[in-house]
Amino acid sequence: MEESPYQPDAIGLCASCQHVYPVRSDRGSMFYQCRRAADDPDFPRYPILPVRQCKGYEDPDPAPPRARTEPS
Ligand code: SF4
Repeated sequence: MEESPYQPDAIGLCASCQHVYPVRSDRGSMFYQCRRAADDPDFPRYPILPVRQCKGYEDPDPAPPRARTEPS
């Protein structure tokens, strides 16, 4: 069975962040690259895992805003 690139407990926030780019090495190890690091030196290219707090975290698929209804 193929190993999932996302192991939420071991990875932390990066597991569900839209800025992560999982990389598998030639030896089969997984690394989690932060794509924010390309533009912002505050972010490490390879964060130390698990990441528990991050100012750059963004949900990849935020829930759409709830429909508003005007009172009649
Ligand atoms: S922005 Fe933060 S949570 Fe997202 S991939 Fe980079 S280090 Fe991980």
